[in-house]
Amino acid sequence: MSEIDLINKNNFTFNKKYGQNFIFDKNLLEAIIKDSGITKDDEVLEIGAGAGTLTKIIAQNAKSVVSYEIDKNLEPVLKENLRECGNSAVVFSDALKLPIADIEKHFTGDYKIVANLPYYITTPLIMKFVKQTNRVKSLSVMVQKEVGERLTAKNTDAQYGSISVILDFYGDVKILRQVSRKMFVPVPNVDSCVVQISINKKKYDCNAEIFESVVKSAFSNKRKTLVNNISKDFNLSKDVIFAILKELNISCDIRGDALSTKDFVEITKKLTK
Ligand code: SAH
Repeated sequence: MSEIDLINKNNFTFNKKYGQNFIFDKNLLEAIIKDSGITKDDEVLEIGAGAGTLTKIIAQNAKSVVSYEIDKNLEPVLKENLRECGNSAVVFSDALKLPIADIEKHFTGDYKIVANLPYYITTPLIMKFVKQTNRVKSLSVMVQKEVGERLTAKNTDAQYGSISVILDFYGDVKILRQVSRKMFVPVPNVDSCVVQISINKKKYDCNAEIFESVVKSAFSNKRKTLVNNISKDFNLSKDVIFAILKELNISCDIRGDALSTKDFVEITKKLTK
C-alpha cells in the first residue's frame, strides 16, 4: 500500500494548526538525506514525523532515528509505516515545549537533526537546538523559502537581519536545495528550501550573550545608526561607542545591517572590556 493510501485508510485529516504538509516523493526524500550527509554512524532527531515518510528513509540511512510528533491521530499510520524500521522510535509530544534534556535522553552521543519542520515554529525550534545544547552536530531542515533566505543572508543582502548574524555566529549556514510547493500534500501557498546549519561554536571567541544583545540592539531600530541603538540599549555615552568604532575603522554613522558577523564580534569584545 502506498503511504498516501495508508493515511486515507486510517481516515487521517490534515490539521492546518500543526503545519501539516507532508512529502511523499521518494526521490526528493532521498535527495534530502543525501544532502544532509548522514551516515550509518549518526543518531538522528526528527521533529514532526507526519506519516513517517522521511523518518523511514532516515532509518534506512542512519544508525537510529527518534522522531517527535505532536498529533496522536498519526499513531496508527506511523505504527504501520515504520513497522519494519527497528532503529526508529516515535515520541508523541511537543518538541518545542519539552525540555531539551528529555529529548536528549534518547541519544547516546552527539546527534544530527533532519526534519521537514512545522513552519509555525521554525525559528524557536532552530534556536532551541542551536543554543540550548552542545550536542547537535548539524541541522538539515526544510523551511519556508523566504525564511531560508533570511537565515543565510549576508550583510549585503536585503534579507539580512539579527537571525542571519546570530546563526552565522554559531555555525555555517547554507541552502542545500530549493523545493517547490507542489512537492507537498496538501499544497501550501509558499515555496520551501532545505537549509543546513553545521554547528561550530568555536568559530568566534566572544561572550555569546553580550554578542546577541549587541546584534539585537543593532537591528532593533533599523532606521537608527548603530551608535544610537547601542547607546540607548546599553546605557552608554555615544562618545564611548564612537571611540570603539574608530579603533575598528568602522564609520561612525554605520547602521547595523551593514556590519558583518566579524564586525559585531569585534564590537562585542571592545564593549565587554
Ligand atoms: N516530516 C513529515 C511531516 C512534515 S509536516 C513529512 O515530511 O511529510 C510537520 C509535522 O510536524 C506535522 O506532522 C505536525 O503534526 C508536526 N508538528 C507540529 N508541531 C509540532 C511540535 N510542536 N512538536 C512535534 N511535532 C510537531
